[in-house]
Amino acid sequence: VAFAKNNAFEKLKALNANSPVAVRGTVQKKKAKASESADKPAEDSWELALEEIHPLNDFPKETIMTPETVFPPEQRYLQLRSDAELREALRFRARAHNLCKKELEEQSPPFFEIETPLLFKSTPEGAREFIVPTRREGLAYALPQSPQQYKQILMASGLPRYYQFARCFRDEDLRADRQPEFTQLDMEMSFATGDDVMRTIEGVIRRLWSSLMKDPAPEGPFRKVPYQDVMAKYGSDKPDTRYGMEIIRLDQLLPVDLIGKISDLEDPIVEAFKVEGNENDPAETHKFITQFLDSPAGAPFNNNPDGGPGVFIYNGKQPLCGLQPFGFQAAEHVEELLDPDHGDLIILQARPRAPFSGGSTPIGDLRRALHASSVSTGFKPAPTGFDFLWVVDFPLFSPSSDSEPGQGGAAGISSTHHPFTAPKRPADVDLLLTDPTQAVADHYDLVVNGVELGGGSRRIHDAAVQEFIFRDILKMPAERLDDFSHLLDALRSGCPPHAGLALGFDRLVAVMLGKESVRDVIAFPKTGRGGDDAMVGAPSPMTEQALETYHLKLRK
Ligand code: ASP
Repeated sequence: VAFAKNNAFEKLKALNANSPVAVRGTVQKKKAKASESADKPAEDSWELALEEIHPLNDFPKETIMTPETVFPPEQRYLQLRSDAELREALRFRARAHNLCKKELEEQSPPFFEIETPLLFKSTPEGAREFIVPTRREGLAYALPQSPQQYKQILMASGLPRYYQFARCFRDEDLRADRQPEFTQLDMEMSFATGDDVMRTIEGVIRRLWSSLMKDPAPEGPFRKVPYQDVMAKYGSDKPDTRYGMEIIRLDQLLPVDLIGKISDLEDPIVEAFKVEGNENDPAETHKFITQFLDSPAGAPFNNNPDGGPGVFIYNGKQPLCGLQPFGFQAAEHVEELLDPDHGDLIILQARPRAPFSGGSTPIGDLRRALHASSVSTGFKPAPTGFDFLWVVDFPLFSPSSDSEPGQGGAAGISSTHHPFTAPKRPADVDLLLTDPTQAVADHYDLVVNGVELGGGSRRIHDAAVQEFIFRDILKMPAERLDDFSHLLDALRSGCPPHAGLALGFDRLVAVMLGKESVRDVIAFPKTGRGGDDAMVGAPSPMTEQALETYHLKLRK
């Protein structure tokens, strides 16, 4: 404000900062100060000559709000108001949303957005659901964990190119920066294979990167790496491929007494990777790894019941360069494969001899944690850029786990992706009859920098195969199989072959903005372990009256 008439300045001074006002005045160019010149203009070169000011509401005097203030989740509105970066993230998100729409709608033939119901039905698709009781006694809806079944039914309905920004609901463990409700960019196409889907999604990614990012748009096609290979090389099905530290297998070559020192397992698999040391100084490397193993981040690895990590520092001044316990043959092999330099770290880790299953191996987790620690402690620079890849050829089925409800079948196995994913090759279809655990899925995940952005698959479009998987492979009870009758009927009605995918949109935006948490790109995220919205106080206790309305009773 430059100057004020009619005691407006006094009124302005009496107001609390951050209060909304209506003003009348003249916007004018500021007079340059002596310190400013034509080539160094003032940052803000306009000012307001204030004539009238009317307060419209009051901002509480006792609330301190600076751009740095961190407000509790209860006051998310103040956080949004004070935190320009947060508001900018939401703007960025809206732009990304529009670009995705544009890319899909400009395809030939175009995709178009179709909304599918949120009041759905409980089906054992894979994740734990939220149930919505109704006033009709004993009847409930379920919120969709994804629009998967509706979008496949759209393919049977002659709507061959669908997409949707879909809200999905999963009542799952919230530790890993997940939200009980989240947004997917969901799509499906008929008469299509996984390659068609992957090509389309690469187009979406390139459009986003070329329009919104400083980094160059990734060129396609993105490489496709089989699940077995990423698990062997990175110990993870969503590896960060930017920083090397690739894993090799050593067990056949290692002396038995060395294996016995790192693990009590009988005949384990032993794997290794190298961490490049800093400044070729073994003492620095020693300090880094000791600090890591003594820190809380290192504890789970030290306490691994299958044996903690075996740590070796490659040291040109020691016999066999510090690899003496390996024996000559294995040391030579390690040198050949890992090509260590003076001061590099070599880590060994054992695991039970079993095929890969699940998302990671102990050495993969260790690789990730060690790398994170090397960056956070300044031992290594943070990797830059984006390295996209498709992880493909997942096993069609995985051993059931307690943490995931799966399809609730009695077979002890669950679908790795979901039960609608097709076997990849004719030989994998044959394996359904002989050894389904060996069957490979036509399932693909999009991974960048250690983050799974999304996944999809070619679907089973033959009702007989789908039913066989539900009943004979997963061994779902008859009444649960009935829950899928709508889908089986739609497939039976001459449904064309189809494939699709969903991108986790919150995560995608967080990755683009380099945010640690999806909460930083959601206006009103759930927080805390229970998935609470602390601002509105949800979930909230049900009143007696509500319980009665929905014919419910609390168990003591
Ligand atoms: N419905 C799947 C999911 O939510 C995505 C897909 O297969 O299209 O992961």
